[in-house]
Amino acid sequence: MGEFVECGDSSPHGSESGDKSPHSTLGGLNDDQGCVQASFNLILNRNKLGDIPVCDNHEKEVNGSDRRALLKSVGAVSLLGALGSGFISEVAHAAAWTKAQRDTMTPDEIIAAMKKGNDRFRKGKSQAHNYLSEQRKVSASGQYPAAVILSCIDSRAPAEILMDLGVGDVFNARIAGNISNDDLLGSMEFACKVAGAKVILVMGHTKCGAVMGAIDGAELGHLTGLLAKIRPAVDATSYQGDRSAKNNGFVDAVARKNVELTIANIKDGSAVLSEMVSAGKLKIVGSMYDIETGALEFI
Ligand SMILES: [Zn+2]
Repeated sequence: MGEFVECGDSSPHGSESGDKSPHSTLGGLNDDQGCVQASFNLILNRNKLGDIPVCDNHEKEVNGSDRRALLKSVGAVSLLGALGSGFISEVAHAAAWTKAQRDTMTPDEIIAAMKKGNDRFRKGKSQAHNYLSEQRKVSASGQYPAAVILSCIDSRAPAEILMDLGVGDVFNARIAGNISNDDLLGSMEFACKVAGAKVILVMGHTKCGAVMGAIDGAELGHLTGLLAKIRPAVDATSYQGDRSAKNNGFVDAVARKNVELTIANIKDGSAVLSEMVSAGKLKIVGSMYDIETGALEFI
């Protein structure tokens, strides 16, 4: 995030007990989390409505040119990250990465850390997480996730657990069938462009009920429309044999194709993200999780 101007002035953001600064009204957020909140508000234009307070300094930014304001507010996110939080690696939970380590991490290194985490999980050697301690740590120093994972809501595919990640390590977007839509694109644009995540991992899984529903043409309330977004993967899957939801081989083949199409939709649907990919600042990768073996295959 070196190209952004950092928000280096924290003087008006006091958070000592009894502090009456605007940030103290943001639900217990610390100084820089208040700045992040202001950044998010800026993006959403909510600050113009005056419904969420912004500190004096950021109010000036909001009233300036939009681009300058965005860059400065985004810089606040970088500063927040520079303050440190846990990160995905074998080292991370024993000793937090330094700012230098975090800033020099490449997308490939982040992906490698995810793979190592899944190796530990699959071998029954996951780290001993003290989630409450991790929670307190990121609450005090702010979040600085390195990746965003777009995965299915299936209860058998919990991304953080199967990659042995801790609190604050990744953004996690879950939706049946791990499809993308405008709201998810917006979420991923925030995670990557604003908050600095360098990897988007689209994760499908075996025996996916949403994929089975799409194959069967199931209809139920709002689910009908969601399954329609998976249907193109059904039609695009080359498969010799029984093309029904009863055939796990076909279901898994469709799930794999669905991951590919979701990645294509992300790149086609978001100029923000595709530009980051072209600039080498972001990598979008796919994977399939085997709910029987616990193995995460990157595809
Ligand atoms: Zn699923």
